Amino acid sequence: MTPFRSFKGTKTPSAACPRCQKLLDRVDALIGGPATPKPGDVTLCIGCGTILVFTPGLGLRIARPDDMEELSPEQTEVLAMARQFVKQARIIRQAEQN
Ligand SMILES: [Zn+2]
Repeated sequence: MTPFRSFKGTKTPSAACPRCQKLLDRVDALIGGPATPKPGDVTLCIGCGTILVFTPGLGLRIARPDDMEELSPEQTEVLAMARQFVKQARIIRQAEQN
């Protein structure tokens, strides 16, 4: 299993990341799939790496510690890897702009 397979994703209602304001309108499953997000599911902003949670209506809010307690050890590990990946990609993008 590789968590970073091709990103085709599932269309979601457009919602801005509460931290970086990037408009997010697709999700992909890091484990299994296809992704069918529902309120309460944890996701990751591809723009800034912030861990987010879907709200009713599939808006987004920043995850709280109690949201993270719902995740399995495998989910926590894969999410941390994906977050590192997003942060590294962001550092590379910033370096390329300078
Ligand atoms: Zn963001």
